[in-house]
Amino acid sequence: MQQTTPFEMAQEQLYACAEILNLEDDVVRILEEPMQQVQVSVPLKMDNGTTRVFPGFRILYNNVLGPAKGGIRFHPEETVDTIKALSAWMTWKCALLNLPLGGGKGGIICNPKELSEHELERLSRAYIDRIWKFIGPEVDILAPDVYTTPEIMAWMMDEYSKISGKNQFGVVTGKPVLVGGSAGRSVATAMGGMYTIREASKELDIDLSKTTIAVQGFGNAGAPAARLSQELFGAEIVAVSDSKGGIYNPDGLNVEQVIEHKAKTKSVINAPNTKTITNSEILELDVDIIIAAALNNVITKENAGNIQAKVLAELANGPTTPEADEILLKNGVHVIPDILCNAGGVTASYFEMVQNRYMFYWTAEEVYQRLDKKMTTAYHEVLYTSKKYGVNMRMGAYVVAVSRVVDAMKLRGWV
Ligand code: GLU
Repeated sequence: MQQTTPFEMAQEQLYACAEILNLEDDVVRILEEPMQQVQVSVPLKMDNGTTRVFPGFRILYNNVLGPAKGGIRFHPEETVDTIKALSAWMTWKCALLNLPLGGGKGGIICNPKELSEHELERLSRAYIDRIWKFIGPEVDILAPDVYTTPEIMAWMMDEYSKISGKNQFGVVTGKPVLVGGSAGRSVATAMGGMYTIREASKELDIDLSKTTIAVQGFGNAGAPAARLSQELFGAEIVAVSDSKGGIYNPDGLNVEQVIEHKAKTKSVINAPNTKTITNSEILELDVDIIIAAALNNVITKENAGNIQAKVLAELANGPTTPEADEILLKNGVHVIPDILCNAGGVTASYFEMVQNRYMFYWTAEEVYQRLDKKMTTAYHEVLYTSKKYGVNMRMGAYVVAVSRVVDAMKLRGWV
């Protein structure tokens, strides 16, 4: 049987929410598809003198609450379907956090691991040359996502600035601090996730200093999440993984050492004093908390029943399918859904936009304080709503987010 695609998943979640909210058909018709999809061919002059062409996309899902906002992924298995789903999730995520922003997402189908630094720079600039008409600080603002970095954001901002004939820091977030980035942005996705885990632990009466945690994915979100769980909670990180596989030590990993090992060898595998495990085994370990910080569609009806953790924190986008959701709910696993758990990234991006506009920059402490407030408020709105409607946390989050988008559409006369 064919697996549900990420966009089918996103639509299913929306339809379930529409039913709970009793939304009119015409409202659902507007919300079930992106408002605008841009597809481009991005030519890249390779270091060896040949030229290759990469498909690129930028999708604006909905901008009723403000300019679209969302990341750019560079991934060999990227698809339009995934980007559509991710742009929908960005819409709900921004609405849930009460940000004056809509949702968008973009990407290039490429393998950045096979490109040199210069090729990566030319590709990033060429992508902006193709899409600049469709983006802008008041239209659609880019950010990092899977396999894209602050450096890449700096190139994209620079290219857009050159085209505009003026500095345009506000067109991209997640930039290096020296060129308009925000303090704290690089760890903000992980930090935001920590605040939601902290609130969940209060609700579930879990002592975080006594918990064991496994982290699937050791990239932009997963690696800082592992480090912060140790630093902030004193929790034991017993397993982590990346695209090549995972490592496990029931007595706890030395996260700093694993970060160093990965920097040297490009993978966490074979870090000292660890046993190698697979990316599916890591999800089924006997731990208190799973942080899913890798890719989408990893928790399905096939493995959801084997999850032993009490809490599943979705730092990745779309890790859990709707069928898996039902199994997790039945088994009493407390899911902190992606559009809540990983919203720290876009929230700090919003702070970055605000600082760019004011040309006045905050300290990391100020960023974390504001982030904590936003995340904690959203967590409790979701928890309250899920209890009020007798639904899981994901639907609680959808009800809050979709209601805001629908109310805004009505106020603006779209429906
Ligand atoms: N890519 C991140 C996300 O999926 C951040 C988006 C942003 O900062 O705009 O939420």
